[in-house]
Amino acid sequence: MQTQKKSITILGSTGSIGTQTIETACHLGLKIDALAANSNSSLLEEQLRRTGAKICALADEKAAKDLKERIPDLGVKILAGKDAAAEVAKTSPSDTLVNAIIGFSGLVPTIEAIKSGKNIAIANKETLVAAGELVMPLAREKNVSVLPIDSEHCAIHECLRGAEKSEIRKLIITGSGGPFFGLKKEELENVTPEMALKHPNWTMGKGITVYSSTLVNKGLELIEAMRLFDVPEDKIDVIINRQSIVHSLVEFADGSVLAQLATPDMKLCIQYALTYPLRVEGLTKPLDLASVGTLNFYNIDNDAFPSVEMARRAVRTGGINPCVYNASNETCVDLFLERKIKYTDIFTLIDSACIKFGKGNGVLSLDEIIKADAEAREYVKELVG
Ligand code: NDP
Ligand code: MG
Repeated sequence: MQTQKKSITILGSTGSIGTQTIETACHLGLKIDALAANSNSSLLEEQLRRTGAKICALADEKAAKDLKERIPDLGVKILAGKDAAAEVAKTSPSDTLVNAIIGFSGLVPTIEAIKSGKNIAIANKETLVAAGELVMPLAREKNVSVLPIDSEHCAIHECLRGAEKSEIRKLIITGSGGPFFGLKKEELENVTPEMALKHPNWTMGKGITVYSSTLVNKGLELIEAMRLFDVPEDKIDVIINRQSIVHSLVEFADGSVLAQLATPDMKLCIQYALTYPLRVEGLTKPLDLASVGTLNFYNIDNDAFPSVEMARRAVRTGGINPCVYNASNETCVDLFLERKIKYTDIFTLIDSACIKFGKGNGVLSLDEIIKADAEAREYVKELVG
């Protein structure tokens, strides 16, 4: 089997996407040079033993010390601390970096990897939402690719193969609608973390499971699509496909619509990003259309789930506002999981933060984005008290 990529570094290797990336990379026979996680030293130890990676990072210093004691036999270089993932991204010898970190902390490592000339396979959508306007031009300048792992963007990428930009009428992002599809605004008041952590079709990390349920994930994905494909917000629709079989679509100028369909399985998207432009045998079960039977599509109820409309306002405002949308969402999800706010407070707090911060001073730099992220988090926490 021929694959283009020779060796990879995986950030967030112990998470949902990270573990599936290791499975996929082992299936493809790719060399894994380096791994990074936050604090899960026991799983990282297993992964280092399995993959033979020689460099690793843990953001949590205590966990790094624990790891050091566990693997004196492996000769692995261990980096520790909040900048460790960025250091690995910069110095590992890989040609490709898979970014599967959750949240804004994936941003600086992505920038370092691009600066060091690595191609990027990105699951970490928060980076593209908060700073896509910096990251994508930097990637072009350094002549590296940024390929999406997010299933909708992977689908759009597939539908756009061979297409000219002028041929695109619109991108159509699909979503499952989440566990609360069909509920009205008032019925969302009493949603608990346990209820929000049950996704109908996908098994994912905690954070993204909650932001899938609020449809903020679709708002983030709308902005992610704008940055990846350089298409304006008003040419991107979002629609519900309850079965999560149609992963997204592209409508072309002549009215023709291409869709990508597959069994819902992130390993397919990870493999696509790692073998592009080739397609090879993978780990995903073939799609059995007869057993799927029916595909249903619905518009979003913007009254109960204002998240996509808020994302549209954030990009229309521009500047730091998409970053604030992301930061306030991440903070709200943590507060909700800690039972400090109600489910529906997530919507009002994101809205309040976006209104409060506006577009910023108009100069979008990395420092400005890091500052906006921190200030938006602080603002939400202060509002909650
Ligand atoms: P998880 O919560 O399952 O995993 C997050 C990973 O990031 C863990 O390995 C965690 O380490 C690590 N991590 C957190 N902070 C740091 C840090 N500062 N430095 C290094 N590593 C860190 O998340 P998911 O895998 O679900 O999601 C990852 C990304 O992929 C997110 O951006 C999400 O939106 C996106 N995504 C996920 C999908 C899915 O199916 N899961 C689908 C589409 C997109 P530790 O285990 O030690 O805490
Ligand atoms: Mg997605």
